[in-house]
Amino acid sequence: MSRVVYVDNNATTRVAPEVIEAMMPYLTEYYGNPSSMHSFGGQVGDAVEKAREQVASLLGAQPTEIVFTSCGSESDNTAIRGSLLANKDKRHIITTHVEHPAVRSLCHSLGKQGYSVTELSVDSEGQLDLEELRQSIRTGTALISVMYANNETGVIFPVEEIGLIAKEYSIPFHCDAVQAVGKIPIDLMQLPIDFLAISGHKLHAPKGIGVLYIRRGSRLLPWLVGGHQERGRRGGTEAVPNIVAFGKACELAQQHIEEENIRVKAMRDRLEKGLLESTPDSRRNGIAENRLPNTSNISFEYIEGEAILLLLNEKGICASSGSACTSGSLEPSHVLRAMGVPYTAAHGSIRFSLSRYNTDEDIDCILKELPPIINRLREISPFGRTSQVPTPASY
Ligand code: PLP
Repeated sequence: MSRVVYVDNNATTRVAPEVIEAMMPYLTEYYGNPSSMHSFGGQVGDAVEKAREQVASLLGAQPTEIVFTSCGSESDNTAIRGSLLANKDKRHIITTHVEHPAVRSLCHSLGKQGYSVTELSVDSEGQLDLEELRQSIRTGTALISVMYANNETGVIFPVEEIGLIAKEYSIPFHCDAVQAVGKIPIDLMQLPIDFLAISGHKLHAPKGIGVLYIRRGSRLLPWLVGGHQERGRRGGTEAVPNIVAFGKACELAQQHIEEENIRVKAMRDRLEKGLLESTPDSRRNGIAENRLPNTSNISFEYIEGEAILLLLNEKGICASSGSACTSGSLEPSHVLRAMGVPYTAAHGSIRFSLSRYNTDEDIDCILKELPPIINRLREISPFGRTSQVPTPASY
């Protein structure tokens, strides 16, 4: 395969070689069931508990507060549904306009089942107004669900303040931290968060494994009902190789977090600055500072993001427009719409998301290849560089 420049790490990441090495024995030799009475299964159970400790250590949590799931979406669903089940007389949920579909679509679906849902707005830099959060709280508010960091722009939300407000009103607080964990330090000893969702494939573990942190004492009924696994909080035989892999990935994330915030951030900043300076009519989406160190969302006005992606793809550069889950639709992302990004800019937005596996050569390659692509597309665009791009009525 020719050289690939992979800058789509918010969609998914490469599995770290050390992670593959750690999980391999549990795909081959140690295939026992951790619930079995015999010692062949028991040693597998020990590996699961070691992984639980590794995850807990990254998060500043207790191992007993860690529940393994199959993915970030399941963790979000378990937290939201399980918390509502445990609190049946309250039927109001507060969330935001910019959540990932794992939360947003679920809240919309709950809205159709009789729950009332308040979606908090964001400003043009993607930030929340905590006064709006306070104003939205009612006696019937069952849950606040706000993400840690946005998957499209990388904007980080003030989760500590949100947690304190939730606590003041005794409302459980669920936080989708799928994009934040492993990229910025998170210490749940210090953060008033009841439920926190994370996903293995975003931090160099394989797909098919997630974690839900459940703070000790927080009320949650199991959503996936089955055997007694995960202390009765999630039924189903444990995906041992994936769990071992996730544990190792968390250990590595802990070791690399400084690199993420220095080397990866420096590459991201060089890429962003280079593109904004070399390409007229381009803009960054999301606040400059309070952002994940690996993420940059840039709009190139008057052209379509999909066209940019196709031409980047021809050069071996893998990025994404909007979120991977919504690409394929020609509607600009709900996140950029919520930020009030003009249609002509939202339509031509590209998300670059880096990881510790990126190199300076990757950045050089994008800085060399992308500006001519933008120029070429603008030359052939039926709208040229004008604001006359027809805006759909739905925008
Ligand atoms: N939450 C956020 C913020 C995400 O970015 C994603 C995936 O992109 C998810 C949840 C869903 O995670 P998973 O793909 O593991 O279900």
